[in-house]
Amino acid sequence: MNKVIVITGAGKGIGRAIALEFARRTKEQHIQKSTLVLSSRTPEDLESLAEECRESGIAVATCRADIASPQDVEQLISFTMERFGRIDCLVNNAGVGRFKALNDITLDDFDYMMSVNARGTFHLSRDVYAIMEKQGSGHIFFITSIAAEMAFKSSSVYSMSKFAQKGLVEALRLYARESGIRITNVMPGAALTPMWGDVPSSMQEVMMRPEDIATPVVDAWLQPARTVVEEIVLRPTGGDINS
Ligand code: NAP
Repeated sequence: MNKVIVITGAGKGIGRAIALEFARRTKEQHIQKSTLVLSSRTPEDLESLAEECRESGIAVATCRADIASPQDVEQLISFTMERFGRIDCLVNNAGVGRFKALNDITLDDFDYMMSVNARGTFHLSRDVYAIMEKQGSGHIFFITSIAAEMAFKSSSVYSMSKFAQKGLVEALRLYARESGIRITNVMPGAALTPMWGDVPSSMQEVMMRPEDIATPVVDAWLQPARTVVEEIVLRPTGGDINS
């Protein structure tokens, strides 16, 4: 059966690496036939990534969606269901951060991070979970962060939004265990992606790379359906960078 894999925030950074890893493994390990549905707010990113993934022989569709927009979330789901009729894997990767001292964080910053990381992730996960529950199978990944269980001075509201994601993971898991759905919480530390902007070379040297996150995500997906990898915690070997 064709496995339909939806990845949000697929255009850059960790989401892009996860899409490429699904494509690479499909080719190299001859895993089950899969279709990637790549989504983010920037169609140009998605089109170039889709081209690259198709070189591995995997089927790819792209769908522009801002997960902070309820209409876009509904459209991403209806786009996928109308074309493919099912969703086997959702990678909740889309996320944003505005990193500032507490006093400098505005209510606009708060609304922006919470509307994407907390509300958007909730909306999409709730509705995709309902589809998976009817199917009797599925796997939902949440790319949260180590900031989902520890605070850093420059990331107070980002941490709030990631703690919120972790709360959703734990609530959803209570339902998922009763319905054969797998839930995986991926908690990375610092990985070199566009989210960080300009990074001094000394810091680049110690940061993880997006593919370091992508490999264990696809490993978890490839476990037998009877086994769920519930948490993946990944840190730079030298420890946390932000403080
Ligand atoms: P990134 O390089 O900034 O990429 C984020 C991706 O998400 C982009 O493709 C972006 O594309 C998309 N996106 C942002 N807002 C969106 C929205 N409202 N709707 C749909 N797509 C949206 O970030 P990253 O570092 O790869 O981070 C990916 C995830 O990992 C995030 O949830 C982040 O919190 C988490 N994380 C990152 C790190 C790290 O050190 N990099 C560590 C721990 C956790 P568009 O702007 O085109 O939409």
